Amino acid sequence: MSSEDAAGAEGRGGDTGSTDADGTKEEPRAGEANGPLGGGSSGTSDVEGAAESAGGPADETGGADEASGPTAGETEGTEETEETGETGETAGADDADGDVSAAPGSVPDDVLEAEADDPVWDVVVVGAGPAGASAAYAAAVAGRRVLLLEKAELPRYKTCGGGIIGPSRDALPPGFELPLRDRVFAVTFSLNGRLTRTRRSRQMLFGLVNRAELDESLVEYAVKAGARVRTGVTVSRVEQHGSAVPDRRTVAVVLSGEKRPVLARAVVGADGSASRIGAHVGVKMDQVDLGLEAEIPVPQSVAEDWSGRVLVDWGPLPGSYGWVFPKGDTLTVGVISARGEGAATKRYLEDFVGRLGLAGFEPSVSSGHLTRCRAEDSPLSRGRVLVCGDAAGLLEPWTREGISFALRSGRLAGEWAVRVAEAHDAVDARQQTLNYAFAVKAGLGVEMGVGRRMFNVFSRRPGMLHAALTGFRPAWNVFAQFTRGAVSLADVVRTNPVARRALDALDRPQS
Ligand SMILES: Cc1cc2nc3c(=O)[nH]c(=O)nc-3n(C[C@H](O)[C@H](O)[C@H](O)COP(=O)(O)OP(=O)(O)OC[C@H]3O[C@@H](n4cnc5c(N)ncnc54)[C@H](O)[C@@H]3O)c2cc1C
Repeated sequence: MSSEDAAGAEGRGGDTGSTDADGTKEEPRAGEANGPLGGGSSGTSDVEGAAESAGGPADETGGADEASGPTAGETEGTEETEETGETGETAGADDADGDVSAAPGSVPDDVLEAEADDPVWDVVVVGAGPAGASAAYAAAVAGRRVLLLEKAELPRYKTCGGGIIGPSRDALPPGFELPLRDRVFAVTFSLNGRLTRTRRSRQMLFGLVNRAELDESLVEYAVKAGARVRTGVTVSRVEQHGSAVPDRRTVAVVLSGEKRPVLARAVVGADGSASRIGAHVGVKMDQVDLGLEAEIPVPQSVAEDWSGRVLVDWGPLPGSYGWVFPKGDTLTVGVISARGEGAATKRYLEDFVGRLGLAGFEPSVSSGHLTRCRAEDSPLSRGRVLVCGDAAGLLEPWTREGISFALRSGRLAGEWAVRVAEAHDAVDARQQTLNYAFAVKAGLGVEMGVGRRMFNVFSRRPGMLHAALTGFRPAWNVFAQFTRGAVSLADVVRTNPVARRALDALDRPQS
């Protein structure tokens, strides 16, 4: 299918539209077609095989960053009012230039000088995603000497939808401007391409970012707070005993290809879902999923049709779903499903892209990545080493939303790493790391517990979830409030007896 065909196909979908709860008739739009629109290759590369066979995350095949520059965003919160189901006014993505300066990692001389003054950093953070940047910021604003180590050069591509829900926005450093590519006011839901229906909100539900831009901006913020950054360095391991460690208050961070380790009083592992630091700490995972994604540049007419609206498709495999997240001139189209179903997951993405009428557009990046959710009793620290974000398996099990978990746990890890760095003995260090674990488990751990139950229900009964969100206004209101950050799913279950009873009934093991 040619690009023109694909663009035209959006108006030829078999769907005849849907009626909203308030009686508003919705016309079908791009992505709402019921049947496959046929033809063409999705252009996805064969990434999941690598992930499946290697047992680790598939390498991101990108590197191609379609963005020409960051866009200015917003920091305002969302208000909490009843959903009306009426068409909201969509504010288009703001194209103002965010004026990002040179790559924040380009200061190695500086770093070496600082190291020469005092060879032991207070806090070394491994990995410069949202978790690492957040940890580095938190420790740097506390006035500590902080070094952030990142194996890639920044900006770097990251396989991610870039959906920024309320809790992510609320966890950003003060004054940080989100480089939003779009603001979402409507969600189209479908059940494996059928029963399509769009729900709308007058208020913004969540924002969409390009991860390369978000992550680079977060690192810049940490640098402005005083953190130093080294990019292009891979941490191969950490040592807390042995000849590389000068004393019991120090951790040696060993870099690939470098003889001299970096020394720190405390280390934060934020090195993502295939974390080496997580392995050192002993983090165990109990849910591993494979996400496949394509960045698809589209003509303006197609981009305009998606502006302000996302699509969520409950997929054919247990626990799977797909999404279309618009980012201006590019659509991020992805699917996620349990690891071990690589070929079926790939087929789901191809079918999904095909029936959206997007198969004729060549993706600029096709990639895959594993997401991992921690086992509940997994450790969050060992000695003077803490883990956060994906490295700790902190991720919402149902939606696999992880940016807010990374930002929130990263900030906590940075704050508690400062105290670990100050600890004079192992007992004191242990106390501080226990405090960190308690803080994570009391907040994110509780959210993950509810997310696990939601995942179980969703895996067994996707149709019921779809019917509730599209046909039962209170369920949509909760979803909208959850995405805006007005409530967490844990809040809903704790405070709403009807929701609690419904979850208890649906989550009961089936005989
Ligand atoms: C397909 C897909 C779609 C997703 N969509 C969303 C979404 O829309 N919204 C959402 O909230 N979440 C989403 N997530 C989850 C989200 O991407 C992650 O939870 C989030 O990136 C975690 O942030 P992090 O900082 O912990 O790890 P990462 O963002 O993975 O950052 C880790 C960093 O560590 C670096 N690193 C790794 N190893 C080393 C090493 N040995 N030495 C030095 N540096 C190292 C990496 O290069 C990387 O920069 C999605 C995930 C997938 C797979």
